[in-house]
Order: sequence, then C-alpha cells, then structure tokens
Amino acid sequence: MARKYIIAGNWKMYKTIAEATAFVDAIATEVANSDNAVYLAVPYTAIRPASEKTANTNVVIGAQNMNDADEGAFTGEIAANMLIEAGAQFVVIGHSERRAYFNEDNAFINRKIKKALSAKIQPILCVGETLEDRENNKTEEVLRQQLTESLADLTAENVGPLVIAYEPVWAIGTGKTATVDVAQETHVFCRSVIKDVFGDDVAQKITILYGGSVKPENVKELMAQNDIDGALVGGAALQPESFVKLVNFDK
Ligand code: PEP
Repeated sequence: MARKYIIAGNWKMYKTIAEATAFVDAIATEVANSDNAVYLAVPYTAIRPASEKTANTNVVIGAQNMNDADEGAFTGEIAANMLIEAGAQFVVIGHSERRAYFNEDNAFINRKIKKALSAKIQPILCVGETLEDRENNKTEEVLRQQLTESLADLTAENVGPLVIAYEPVWAIGTGKTATVDVAQETHVFCRSVIKDVFGDDVAQKITILYGGSVKPENVKELMAQNDIDGALVGGAALQPESFVKLVNFDK
C-alpha cells in the first residue's frame, strides 16, 4: 500500500517570528517539487505569520500542542479553534517532552486527540518507550498501552487523518537513532496494534512516522523501510539546509 511520506519538523521552543518567516522563505522553493508532504510544527507565535507566508506553497504549518477544552480558565493553554484560526492544519499531541515535563498522561492525550479530530485539525500522536522500558523488554507493552489508551473511544470511521509518530524517548535529541531494523520492527508492532483497534484497512492506510535523531545522513535508510512513512524531526529541522535535505531524501 502506497502511503505518502510526511517529513515533519518540530521546532520545539526555538525560533522567533522573524526567524520562522526567514526559514520558510529559505525552504519554500527548495521543497516545492517534493512528492513528500512538508510539515512544520512551529511555536504558537509563529503559526499565523508562517502560515501566511506558506499560503501558496506545499509547506503545511501546525502546532506542537493544544488543550482539549474549547475555552476556559486554563492559563497558558490554547484551544483547537484558536490554532485553526491562526492557520495551523495539524497538531502534535503527546510528545514525550509533554509527557515527561508537563505530566501529560494517556487519558489527557486521548481527550486532545478526540478534540483535534472533531475540530478538524490533523493530530500527530506521539508514542515511544524509554531506555528503561526497552532494557526491561517492556517496549511492546508500553506502546500498546499508549496507543490503545490514547485512541480510546475512536472508531475506524472517525479516526480520519490521524498520524502516529513512533519516537523512542532514548533517541530524541540524543544523537542515538534506533537501528533501521529496530525502527522497522517497532513500526510493524505499532501497525499491528492499530489493526487490533481499528482493523486492517486503517492499519494499512495509517501513516507512521519515525522520530529520534533523524538527520540527512540516516534519513534515506530509515525511509526505505516498509513501515516507516516519514519522519518527525527536532534538531535537524532547525536549519533550512538540513531540513531541505530531509524533505528531498528521495531526490
Ligand atoms: C522530536 O522532537 O520529536 C525529535 C525526534 O527530536 P530530534 O530529532 O532532535 O531527536
């Protein structure tokens, strides 16, 4: 089954508005002819200016987080409709940094995924095991729990444009990448859980990104794996030159 690759940058808490717009100016023509979808998860402040700049391009702007409430007394939080109004077309949900530093659990992540789908902003659900989980042979147990709890109450009919990002926590920002065999094997496992939950049709269609120290030097062999449908990239998505190389990995 041919699934379109998504190369998604996650800028985390980097880039002012001026830096963000300079970046999109620098990459727009370089990625214009790519067959791969080009996503950038930018800081909230850059969503509007970056989405205006990329309006007539193939670059898709999104957010890195959102709350599940429509509005309310949640100081510092942001709602789906606010992101959409600003120009965000997708939102990263449950990134391991949100889970670790802001105590986000699967139940909260599940509410956010449901809200994103009902508000019609494409969710990218992040899952991944810690080094301790992997060393204790808990990887599959942890991933099954994260996937089933984060996707609870959803059905094959309403799961729509959901994307999964498998990001082993021990590989994020550490320079360590899962070997291609480990990455492929774990993607196959994640797809099998999606099959258990939603059936084979959804499992074959769903896009599963790999994340964890993806860079121009390793992107090609990772993308060559059958079940790896793209990348979610932090560090190497901060410089236009390396992001362009990632997007154009197949050129
Ligand atoms: C990420 O932020 O999701 C990520 C994978 O970061 P890095 O590419 O820097 O490991």
